[in-house]
Amino acid sequence: MLAHDVIVIGGGLIGSAIALRLAQAGLKVALLEKNAPGREASWAGAGMLSPAPDSSVSIPLVPFGRASLSRYPQFIAEIQEIAQRNVGYRTDGAIELLFSPTQNANSAR
Ligand SMILES: Cc1cc2nc3c(=O)[nH]c(=O)nc-3n(C[C@H](O)[C@H](O)[C@H](O)COP(=O)(O)OP(=O)(O)OC[C@H]3O[C@@H](n4cnc5c(N)ncnc54)[C@H](O)[C@@H]3O)c2cc1C
Repeated sequence: MLAHDVIVIGGGLIGSAIALRLAQAGLKVALLEKNAPGREASWAGAGMLSPAPDSSVSIPLVPFGRASLSRYPQFIAEIQEIAQRNVGYRTDGAIELLFSPTQNANSAR
Protein backbone atom coordinates (compact mmCIF):
# COMPACT_ATOMS: atom_id res chain seq x y z
CA MET A 1 0.00 0.00 0.00
CA LEU A 2 1.24 3.46 -0.89
CA ALA A 3 1.78 5.71 2.08
CA HIS A 4 2.59 9.40 2.00
CA ASP A 5 3.47 11.91 4.67
CA VAL A 6 2.07 14.81 2.69
CA ILE A 7 -0.33 15.30 -0.20
CA VAL A 8 0.15 18.50 -2.19
CA ILE A 9 -2.79 19.42 -4.42
CA GLY A 10 -1.92 21.35 -7.56
CA GLY A 11 1.11 20.85 -9.78
CA GLY A 12 1.82 24.43 -10.74
CA LEU A 13 4.95 26.34 -9.73
CA ILE A 14 3.84 26.75 -6.14
CA GLY A 15 2.70 23.19 -5.47
CA SER A 16 5.69 21.75 -7.29
CA ALA A 17 8.15 23.91 -5.36
CA ILE A 18 6.52 22.98 -2.06
CA ALA A 19 6.55 19.29 -3.00
CA LEU A 20 10.23 19.53 -3.94
CA ARG A 21 11.23 21.10 -0.64
CA LEU A 22 9.19 18.60 1.38
CA ALA A 23 10.72 15.67 -0.52
CA GLN A 24 14.19 17.14 0.01
CA ALA A 25 13.35 17.28 3.73
CA GLY A 26 12.82 13.52 3.62
CA LEU A 27 9.04 13.35 3.48
CA LYS A 28 7.14 11.03 1.16
CA VAL A 29 5.16 13.41 -0.99
CA ALA A 30 2.27 12.83 -3.36
CA LEU A 31 1.64 15.67 -5.80
CA LEU A 32 -1.89 15.57 -7.22
CA GLU A 33 -2.72 17.48 -10.38
CA LYS A 34 -6.16 17.35 -11.97
CA ASN A 35 -4.91 18.29 -15.43
CA ALA A 36 -1.39 18.49 -16.82
CA PRO A 37 1.28 19.79 -14.41
CA GLY A 38 2.39 23.36 -14.99
CA ARG A 39 -0.27 24.19 -17.58
CA GLU A 40 -2.48 26.65 -15.69
CA ALA A 41 -1.41 30.06 -14.30
CA SER A 42 2.23 28.92 -14.20
CA TRP A 43 2.06 28.35 -17.93
CA ALA A 44 0.20 31.59 -18.66
CA GLY A 45 2.53 33.78 -16.61
CA ALA A 46 4.47 36.34 -18.60
CA GLY A 47 7.59 35.56 -16.59
CA MET A 48 8.26 39.03 -15.20
CA LEU A 49 9.71 38.96 -11.70
CA SER A 50 9.44 42.28 -9.95
CA PRO A 51 9.01 43.32 -6.33
CA ALA A 52 7.35 46.55 -7.50
CA PRO A 53 3.73 46.67 -6.31
CA ASP A 54 0.79 46.44 -8.69
CA SER A 55 -1.05 48.99 -6.53
CA SER A 56 -0.64 50.90 -3.28
CA VAL A 57 -2.41 48.06 -1.46
CA SER A 58 0.58 45.82 -2.24
CA ILE A 59 3.27 48.19 -0.96
CA PRO A 60 3.65 46.35 2.42
CA LEU A 61 4.54 43.23 0.43
CA VAL A 62 7.51 44.85 -1.34
CA PRO A 63 10.10 43.70 1.27
CA PHE A 64 8.87 40.13 0.88
CA GLY A 65 9.08 40.45 -2.89
CA ARG A 66 12.62 41.78 -2.69
CA ALA A 67 13.71 39.00 -0.34
CA SER A 68 12.10 36.40 -2.56
CA LEU A 69 13.64 37.81 -5.73
CA SER A 70 17.10 37.85 -4.17
CA ARG A 71 16.80 34.11 -3.51
CA TYR A 72 15.45 33.26 -6.94
CA PRO A 73 18.76 32.89 -8.87
CA GLN A 74 19.92 30.23 -6.41
CA PHE A 75 16.56 28.46 -6.69
CA ILE A 76 16.76 28.52 -10.49
CA ALA A 77 20.32 27.17 -10.42
CA GLU A 78 19.14 24.33 -8.21
CA ILE A 79 16.19 23.53 -10.49
CA GLN A 80 18.44 23.54 -13.57
CA GLU A 81 20.86 21.20 -11.82
CA ILE A 82 18.07 18.79 -10.90
CA ALA A 83 16.35 18.95 -14.29
CA GLN A 84 19.57 19.12 -16.31
CA ARG A 85 17.83 21.77 -18.40
CA ASN A 86 18.19 25.48 -18.94
CA VAL A 87 14.93 27.13 -17.89
CA GLY A 88 15.62 30.37 -19.74
CA TYR A 89 15.97 32.58 -16.67
CA ARG A 90 17.23 36.01 -17.72
CA THR A 91 18.15 39.06 -15.68
CA ASP A 92 18.09 41.68 -18.42
CA GLY A 93 15.78 44.03 -16.55
CA ALA A 94 12.58 45.57 -17.83
CA ILE A 95 11.34 48.79 -19.33
CA GLU A 96 8.64 50.57 -17.37
CA LEU A 97 6.54 53.10 -19.25
CA LEU A 98 5.20 56.08 -17.31
CA PHE A 99 2.23 57.80 -18.83
CA SER A 100 1.95 60.84 -16.56
CA PRO A 101 4.41 63.15 -14.78
CA THR A 102 3.17 61.96 -11.37
CA GLN A 103 3.04 58.24 -12.07
CA ASN A 104 6.60 57.64 -10.92
CA ALA A 105 5.81 59.22 -7.54
CA ASN A 106 2.98 56.72 -7.09
CA SER A 107 5.06 53.61 -7.74
CA ALA A 108 7.12 52.48 -4.75
CA ARG A 109 10.46 50.84 -5.41
C1 LIG B 1 -1.96 35.74 -17.79
C2 LIG B 1 -1.08 35.69 -16.55
C3 LIG B 1 0.12 36.37 -16.57
C4 LIG B 1 0.93 36.34 -15.41
N1 LIG B 1 2.15 36.98 -15.45
C5 LIG B 1 2.95 36.93 -14.38
C6 LIG B 1 4.22 37.55 -14.39
O1 LIG B 1 4.66 38.13 -15.38
N2 LIG B 1 4.99 37.50 -13.27
C7 LIG B 1 4.56 36.85 -12.16
O2 LIG B 1 5.31 36.81 -11.16
N3 LIG B 1 3.37 36.22 -12.10
C8 LIG B 1 2.56 36.26 -13.19
N4 LIG B 1 1.36 35.64 -13.14
C9 LIG B 1 0.98 34.97 -11.91
C10 LIG B 1 1.66 33.61 -11.83
O3 LIG B 1 1.57 32.94 -13.06
C11 LIG B 1 0.97 32.83 -10.71
O4 LIG B 1 1.02 33.57 -9.51
C12 LIG B 1 1.64 31.48 -10.46
O5 LIG B 1 1.85 30.77 -11.67
C13 LIG B 1 0.74 30.70 -9.53
O6 LIG B 1 1.26 29.40 -9.41
P1 LIG B 1 0.37 28.30 -8.77
O7 LIG B 1 1.19 27.05 -8.73
O8 LIG B 1 -0.21 28.80 -7.49
O9 LIG B 1 -0.91 28.18 -9.74
P2 LIG B 1 -1.12 27.27 -11.05
O10 LIG B 1 0.05 27.28 -11.96
O11 LIG B 1 -2.45 27.66 -11.60
O12 LIG B 1 -1.20 25.82 -10.44
C14 LIG B 1 -2.31 25.36 -9.72
C15 LIG B 1 -2.56 23.94 -10.18
O13 LIG B 1 -3.53 23.35 -9.33
C16 LIG B 1 -4.33 22.47 -10.11
N5 LIG B 1 -5.55 22.23 -9.37
C17 LIG B 1 -6.49 23.12 -9.01
N6 LIG B 1 -7.46 22.52 -8.31
C18 LIG B 1 -7.10 21.22 -8.20
C19 LIG B 1 -7.69 20.09 -7.59
N7 LIG B 1 -8.87 20.19 -6.94
N8 LIG B 1 -7.06 18.89 -7.69
C20 LIG B 1 -5.88 18.80 -8.35
N9 LIG B 1 -5.28 19.83 -8.95
C21 LIG B 1 -5.88 21.03 -8.87
C22 LIG B 1 -4.51 23.22 -11.42
O14 LIG B 1 -4.83 22.36 -12.48
C23 LIG B 1 -3.12 23.86 -11.59
O15 LIG B 1 -2.25 23.06 -12.39
C24 LIG B 1 0.54 35.63 -14.27
C25 LIG B 1 -0.69 34.94 -14.29
C26 LIG B 1 -1.48 34.95 -15.41
C27 LIG B 1 -2.76 34.16 -15.41
